[in-house]
Amino acid sequence: MKFIASLGAGAAVWLSLSLSLNAASAQDLNVLCAVQVEWCQMMEAVFEEKTGLDVSMERRSTGEILDRVRAERDAPKIDVWWGGTGDTHLQAAGEDLLEPYQPKNFEDTLPWAQNFFLMSGGKAAGIYAGALGFGYNSDFLAAHGVAAPSCWKDLTAPRYKGLVQMPNPNSSGTAYTMLATLVQLLGEDEAFEYLAALAKNIDRFTTSGAAPVQAAARGETGIGISFIHDAVTQKLAGAPMVIVAPCEGTGYEIGAVSIVKGARNPEAARLFVDFALSPEGQETCAASGQNQIPANAKASLPPAAPDISLIRMVDYDFATFGSPDQRRRLLDRFDKEVLQTATPVATQ
Ligand code: PLP
Repeated sequence: MKFIASLGAGAAVWLSLSLSLNAASAQDLNVLCAVQVEWCQMMEAVFEEKTGLDVSMERRSTGEILDRVRAERDAPKIDVWWGGTGDTHLQAAGEDLLEPYQPKNFEDTLPWAQNFFLMSGGKAAGIYAGALGFGYNSDFLAAHGVAAPSCWKDLTAPRYKGLVQMPNPNSSGTAYTMLATLVQLLGEDEAFEYLAALAKNIDRFTTSGAAPVQAAARGETGIGISFIHDAVTQKLAGAPMVIVAPCEGTGYEIGAVSIVKGARNPEAARLFVDFALSPEGQETCAASGQNQIPANAKASLPPAAPDISLIRMVDYDFATFGSPDQRRRLLDRFDKEVLQTATPVATQ
């Protein structure tokens, strides 16, 4: 247990709660975390310091977490699924894998987060939002003598052969958001035609959603398709990255937190969810160098968070694309019509 002397009155409440929890169970809280590892680590450290609880925090991509929670349905080892794209949490809610819980700070959350919570049947709470897009390495494209892209359709141009990375929607919530976005922007058949054409330019389908812009930032590829806030993080770290909100419009995510049905540490899980929605918990995002838009209206915005009101956005249909049947169907189609025709198909 780690406590600091300067903890205030609010923290004293946490302290007594955590002490009673420890006395009752002496158990860990097991969290699977789908945001960037820097944020996962900071949340773990701050929550542990605040409560004295010992947290096991592991980073996995969103689709991997869904698969894990599904596989452990009869004997859950995970208490909390924190972060990752909301439609995947909705799919878990639709499969009856989550426990209903309304976080303490719910009334302070923005309307999009409240709507999301209601849509989940009270089983997943919105914690942040962010828009999808891509980032390119301007030095890399200049060195290859290719013009820069500004639209989704540009990315299928033969000049980008082998110069684009995108995540794999089987593992990555970011990529599932991309798939759902393109279906909503173009229509389903056209979206799969587009993706099959795009696959000719992809040199790597990554496991994680931020990996493509991280690879572009390192100059390992030219263009990475990811969330725009992930590209901002790379740019702030000094990469020659240009961030693109595609000209046709794009989709967005509501990142979520949920408690796993049958969690072994339900009281600690509820404490964690309350903290994740509190202004202090929300501000660990900016403090760890991340740039999502927080759900709690009382939390301060990361200074470099993209202003998504300026981005042309689809009216994202979370109910449809958050349904387990749609997910299964779209991923099957992606595997058959995109992944199996792509060369080479590599993952990381
Ligand atoms: N990292 C950030 C910053 C995100 O906003 C999200 C989506 O919620 C993810 C990671 C999800 O990662 P993945 O696409 O690997 O599931």
